[in-house]
Amino acid sequence: MPDDCLFCQIAGGGIPATIVSEGTRTLAFRDVSPQAPTHVLVIPTDHHETVAELAAEAPDVLVELHRQAASVAEAEGIADAGYRLVYNTGRDGQQSVQHVHLHLLGGRAMTWPPG
Ligand code: AMP
Repeated sequence: MPDDCLFCQIAGGGIPATIVSEGTRTLAFRDVSPQAPTHVLVIPTDHHETVAELAAEAPDVLVELHRQAASVAEAEGIADAGYRLVYNTGRDGQQSVQHVHLHLLGGRAMTWPPG
C-alpha cells in the first residue's frame, strides 16, 4: 500500500473517521463532506486502487462491500425508500482518493443523470 493512502490510514486507525460498521475485511465510515443525508463510504481494509482491480484481485471482498452497504442502508432506515451506490473510477470518473470506495447515498431523492 502507498504510505500516504488516506483510506489505508483510516482503516489502520491512524486517521480518525466516524465508523459506521466494521466487517472482517471491510470498513464503513461517514463521508466527511456528505452529499446526502446518508453518505457512507465502504472500503476494503486492504489497498486496491479501483473497483476493477478489486474485482480482479479479491472478488469475494467486492461482494462483502455490497453486503455491508445493504446492511448499513437497513440500519440507516433508507433501504425501503432506496439509495444510490457509486464507484467513481479514474480521472474522468472524478476519483479523488486512490483506494477503492463504495459511496452509499440516500435519505433524499437522487437526481439523474449525475453531473
Ligand atoms: P471520490 O471523489 O469518489 O474519490 O470520493 C472521495 C470521498 O472521500 C469524497 O466524497 C470525500 O468527501 C471523502 N473524504 C475525503 N477525506 C475524507 C476523510 N478524512 N474522512 C471521510 N471521508 C473523506
